[in-house]
Amino acid sequence: MTKQLISVIVPVYNEEADIYNFITRSLLPAVEKNNYDYELILVNDGSTDHTLEILQQLSKENKHIVTLSLSRNFGKEPALSAGLDYARGDAALTIDADSQQPPELIPKFLEKWNSGAEIVTGVRSHYTKHGLIPKLGSKLFYRLLRMMGNKSTVPGSTDYRLIDRVVIDEFNKLSEHNRITRGLIDWLGFKQEYIEYVYGVRTAGKPSYSFKKLFHLAIDSFVSMSTTPLVIFGYIGIFITIASFILGVFCIINQYILGDPLGLYWNGSVQLAIFITFLIGLVMISQAITALYISHIHAESQGRPLYIIDQKESRNTKK
Ligand code: UDP
Ligand code: MG
Repeated sequence: MTKQLISVIVPVYNEEADIYNFITRSLLPAVEKNNYDYELILVNDGSTDHTLEILQQLSKENKHIVTLSLSRNFGKEPALSAGLDYARGDAALTIDADSQQPPELIPKFLEKWNSGAEIVTGVRSHYTKHGLIPKLGSKLFYRLLRMMGNKSTVPGSTDYRLIDRVVIDEFNKLSEHNRITRGLIDWLGFKQEYIEYVYGVRTAGKPSYSFKKLFHLAIDSFVSMSTTPLVIFGYIGIFITIASFILGVFCIINQYILGDPLGLYWNGSVQLAIFITFLIGLVMISQAITALYISHIHAESQGRPLYIIDQKESRNTKK
């Protein structure tokens, strides 16, 4: 029986300082000690230092190592997608190039996959983000993501992940451009298991995800996964409209029918203020409605499949 093939995918961007050691000393040994065939796909994401030459050198030394070089820096998400598109394995494992995700855990990922999991996700154990802002930021990120209806994303999920062929194929069918791999994989479904690990410290080089980039990533995740922000403003609009309408009716009855028994002396500007608040409420509602239309257009343009069939669980189908 031929051995199963594992595709290990590493996005690499300006990692010349440590990439050679990382691949040869820690990643390869961890991959090779399993009883699987492997291909190691190194995706050079438009590095501007000597990373590419090092990757090509690695490919020369070991025929299992594929160097896939993107024409410029596209970002980690597109780099991962390129790797997954190229992967031929029965499963693919994605891991960062900076030793923050310990390769020693690879056998554990494979074990879970072997016992039936189709997605195995590495989850950062508590409080290993360094610095207060990243820590609070990531907590807030997951709290908001959950609030906005994305219940399936486990806090601390990382891109250290193994996915089965069936998931790779479905993932490769998705065509949206603004992609957060994590969110999409969760959206796909399938049997998911988790492995907790301590997120290490970068051995060399600089993290290329600045606070600004992370912030954009967070906004992207919300916008691409949910319409809750729009709906919230719609509700605020409804509240304002109803409240100012009641106030308006109260004002008319109090002033013109009962002759101001409460002695409020509401003059023209108060009445105008109530009327304008009422109009603002209406504008907010109509904006939310417009936004809902846009979100429908957005959903259509993402072109996601309506459903995904789990062939393994299905019976008597012809495929
Ligand atoms: N990376 C990439 N393209 C980019 C930025 C990063 O391929 O534009 C790679 C990087 O080389 C590393 C992984 O993505 O292997 C994670 O990057 P980083 O360590 O900067 O992010 P963090 O650890 O903060 O998530
Ligand atoms: Mg890192």
